[in-house]
Amino acid sequence: MNSLSITIAKDVGFCFGVRRAIDIARKAGEQNGKVAMLGDIVHNERVVNDLKELGVTVFEDIENIPVNMPVIFRSHGTTAEVWQRARNRGLTIIDAACPLVNEIHVAARELEAEGRQVIIIGDPGHDEVEGIASQISNPIIIANEQDAEKLQKIRKAGIIIQSTQFHENVNSIVSALIFKVSDLRIINTICKPTRNRQSQVRELAENNDVMVIVGSFTSANTKRLTSIAKTINPNSYQVQGPADIQPEWFMNMKSVGISAGASTPDEIVVKVTEKIGALSL
Ligand code: SF4
Repeated sequence: MNSLSITIAKDVGFCFGVRRAIDIARKAGEQNGKVAMLGDIVHNERVVNDLKELGVTVFEDIENIPVNMPVIFRSHGTTAEVWQRARNRGLTIIDAACPLVNEIHVAARELEAEGRQVIIIGDPGHDEVEGIASQISNPIIIANEQDAEKLQKIRKAGIIIQSTQFHENVNSIVSALIFKVSDLRIINTICKPTRNRQSQVRELAENNDVMVIVGSFTSANTKRLTSIAKTINPNSYQVQGPADIQPEWFMNMKSVGISAGASTPDEIVVKVTEKIGALSL
């Protein structure tokens, strides 16, 4: 095996919103002994399992949570309906939503208050998108340019964007909507940690022979980083951990770039880097 130069993206590991949510969950587990978590607090199996050891139990339905158990709401927001059901049941709510996601909720309501048809650019069914959609009465969710092409003409609309969208997708949707909407306001709600990660992935994918993205296949932002890398460099791979690394990816290659999704623990990135480093020994 040849010698490999390895460059790790400046921003890897948890973004501040995920780090904050995990800290909140950890403290809640330590203080209360038993705490409920509605769904996975972040899209990473390892993090969720670590929290379980601290007494944080995952529930899929708010109705099944015992009334004496505080409930943690996840980093990417919770629908208005679930908030109401939790209140109706008298549950103690510990909100771990990222402040930047809350800003998107505010932006959605602002656009609606201006009398605009609110259009959300995002993945239908994703927790964050559902939470945003629940803030307003009649949202349209658009995942891609094809969805945008199908829309009827609209007089007055406003766009908000799932925090982890990549700007190429948003650009193509907005370009299509320009011809459909006479009065269009866009609030760019792609969060800064996501923008930084995406631009670093673009740069690394361009400047390295191989690109490795570390993170869970259930994480939307990790999958998006992988897709960005693949469009620039076909030798791009997503791995969940060191066991997924395949030595043949690096045969006759000189350089590798490494990035990771916002919900990937630092130590997994370190282990993947060590495994790749060991290949060139
Ligand atoms: S990806 Fe952005 S919006 Fe989502 S938790 Fe992280 S910082 Fe917050």
